[in-house]
Amino acid sequence: MSLQRKAVEIGRFRDGRLIYRLDSDLPPMGYIAIGVIDRGTNVIQARPTTICPQNCIFCSVDAGLKSIHRWAEYVAEPGLITRGVESVLKIKGCSVEVLLDTIGDVLTYPWLVELIKELRNINGVKSIALETHGLFLSEKLVDKLHEAGLDRVNLSIETLNQDKARFLYGTPAYSVNRVLKVAEYLVKETSIDLHVTPLWLPGLNDEDLLRVIDWAIRVGAGKKWPPVTIQKFIKHKYGRGSWIREVSWSDFWSFIDELEKKTGVRLKWSMDEWGMHYARRIKPKYSRGDLVEVDVIARGWLRGEFLGVINGEYLIGVRGRRGLRVDIGRRHIARIVGDKDGLLLGLLEKTIS
Ligand code: SF4
Repeated sequence: MSLQRKAVEIGRFRDGRLIYRLDSDLPPMGYIAIGVIDRGTNVIQARPTTICPQNCIFCSVDAGLKSIHRWAEYVAEPGLITRGVESVLKIKGCSVEVLLDTIGDVLTYPWLVELIKELRNINGVKSIALETHGLFLSEKLVDKLHEAGLDRVNLSIETLNQDKARFLYGTPAYSVNRVLKVAEYLVKETSIDLHVTPLWLPGLNDEDLLRVIDWAIRVGAGKKWPPVTIQKFIKHKYGRGSWIREVSWSDFWSFIDELEKKTGVRLKWSMDEWGMHYARRIKPKYSRGDLVEVDVIARGWLRGEFLGVINGEYLIGVRGRRGLRVDIGRRHIARIVGDKDGLLLGLLEKTIS
């Protein structure tokens, strides 16, 4: 099968964004939006989908129905993720946590339960966690995730106030009370742990965080892992919330100290306490400056970017140099211009077939 036919268009948003299904035979690494990422620790990031049902005003990756920078979304077949995790494990020499942390919301993934079951069966996978804002959480889904072998849910919840939540999450479909109820069920009725990870939005949810922390402790979050971690709001080039105040790291840590004093809850944890440590890193064969042949197989997630494959081995995000026409299904010569954490970006220089 040609590489291009391994990225199949399966739908389209009203704004013209295409949804691709990525075949499990495609390379699992190299692209930030989908697949598997190794950042040199015992935690492997796994991203099986990019789709999100929310429209958070602070979204760092411009996800959801009102995205303006995206022109494609992906859903990867489970085999692409499991192969990626297996190939990273071969290099690591230690057991790992698989963290399902997408640039969307992983609860939209149609094969989530199957994927977790398959990950559970891989030798060397010690724990499996997922990150979500919880819109699609239900008691029925929690039961299935529990049975499949999920160990932890990292729940991002920025406020307990219903109206504010709908404003922050950009959707009337979000019910805080429902999400809280399901999270409480998860803690009480299953062995899955709950780790609450609110984002501090300076000036918008300072007081709300006190109530979120209080709720997390009261319902028993942190059975095995730390109960709460506060995240810092950081502006991103393609993210939303440019009008939200971004504070310095020293102001952030002072705020966390204050929160700890007010709540009596510890909010700072070492890597060690998280069970995290540095571990051998996969060294990609290709790096910045290399000239490579790239098959362009689909649109990239950001407008103007394309998804390519180098030599059948790595995914890469590419753009054409000024004046170059980029066609999906054709092969090009590209220079690699970015390779941080094995995430490859390239500039297409010419078309060769
Ligand atoms: S912050 Fe998360 S839940 Fe909200 S729009 Fe972005 S990806 Fe979706």
